[in-house]
Amino acid sequence: MQIIKIFGIKFSSYDNMNEFRNHIKNFLSTDNCKSIFTPNAEMIARTVEDKSFREVLKRSEVNLPDGVGILLLAKKKGIRINRFPGIEAMLEILKLAEDLKIPIYFLGAKKEVVESMVNRIKIRYPNLVIAGYRDGYFKREEEENIISEINNSGAKILFVALGFPKQEFFIDKYKDKLKVNIAIGVGGSFDVLSG
Ligand code: UDP
Repeated sequence: MQIIKIFGIKFSSYDNMNEFRNHIKNFLSTDNCKSIFTPNAEMIARTVEDKSFREVLKRSEVNLPDGVGILLLAKKKGIRINRFPGIEAMLEILKLAEDLKIPIYFLGAKKEVVESMVNRIKIRYPNLVIAGYRDGYFKREEEENIISEINNSGAKILFVALGFPKQEFFIDKYKDKLKVNIAIGVGGSFDVLSG
């Protein structure tokens, strides 16, 4: 794995899936929450104007280069980086969670979308331990309860699909309160996997 800086944001570039799996496995044996984001070129553009968003990406343990825009930005600087779309990361982590019996929680998307995705995922990963899920339309006042629900569920991996930049701000805000080992922002992936 190489760390590559693009516009001041550190990206992880993995040579292969095995390397990524091992990195994730290491996170699972620690006792704090690590965040994984999948910035695309649009997100990097936002970091230029929005300092707080920039800080959020800088604090993240892993940023995966999502989309060809990032590769082009890197190429301009003479850097080669391997693309890693958020959905591929999600599928790989689900496989790993199933193999290792690591409980997971899904937060985000519309109620019917997340329900339909969970039903499909149960078929695709029959031994996956789904600790819980809920939709991504809630008020600020509900957030503390949602964090308690996730913590009480026993989940160790949290997938958050609230769209960008909401999911990144949410994960960053609650990272210290979350008992999961990994929180990953996955954008529109729940919609893709729901049907
Ligand atoms: N979403 C959500 N809560 C919100 C806003 C968005 O759960 O308050 C969900 C939305 O239903 C979709 C996902 O976030 O499943 C990604 O949304 P969008 O396509 O707008 O974001 P992007 O793909 O641009 O990050």
